[in-house]
Amino acid sequence: MTEPEPFEVYAIRYATVARQSAENFIGGDPHEAGMPMDYFIWLARNTAHTFIIDTGFNAAAAKRRRRDFLRSPVEGLRLLGVDAATVHDVIITHLHYDHIGNFDLFPQAQFHLQDAEMAYATGRYMAQNFFAHAYELEEVVAMVRNAYKGRVTFHNGDATLVPGLSLHHVGGHTLGLQVVRLWTRAGWLVLASDASHYAANMNEGRPFPVVADVTAMIDGWRLLRTLVDDPRNIIPGHDPEVMKLYRAPGPELEGIAVRLDSQPLE
Ligand SMILES: [Zn+2]
Repeated sequence: MTEPEPFEVYAIRYATVARQSAENFIGGDPHEAGMPMDYFIWLARNTAHTFIIDTGFNAAAAKRRRRDFLRSPVEGLRLLGVDAATVHDVIITHLHYDHIGNFDLFPQAQFHLQDAEMAYATGRYMAQNFFAHAYELEEVVAMVRNAYKGRVTFHNGDATLVPGLSLHHVGGHTLGLQVVRLWTRAGWLVLASDASHYAANMNEGRPFPVVADVTAMIDGWRLLRTLVDDPRNIIPGHDPEVMKLYRAPGPELEGIAVRLDSQPLE
């Protein structure tokens, strides 16, 4: 079997917020230290395919939720030579507001989503604010409209979209959370999204407090490790360290995007 063509993979940082470390772990944190959260979308491309993973939120959502908005995620894509208006494939790891805002800026896109995520975001648990608060009702409704238009490709569990790119249903954080596994020049790489917000959640066995099923979240960490050869190739979803461990692809992208399919800096 021939090896798939490797993907280039980028993390694009578009927002940040100050937080205390105790907010990032069930049971809190004894250190009471500042532990900011960064917000990313991701780009994976090779000569044959371009995939956008999540679409971030916009300035209005940032204001409503008091996040520091740095720039539109779409502007980050533009700097990497990708025009959102012409993108064909967008993978949605889950339907939380910080992962599906801006979908209107991708008018040509087909959205790849787990069956379980649509069921969760439109089902019985949304009557509970604990589960519903990270969803924006209008965005969930918009995704339902997209489904009626045939613009959502639903997946039920693991799926290979093209050679070297597969989706893996994890659940945990939300019932339909999926992660993305990519073949790259650095070997297999996994975009963990909110399967592990920070590396510390997974590496120290301390779950993030926004969670639908803690057992599935913890099983997910084990799954992530089986999807890579080098555990450093598991990219957490909201960890500011990502911007320090990897290099910008050019000076104009300093602080905006980093290339993940490369040796992390120590
Ligand atoms: Zn998130």
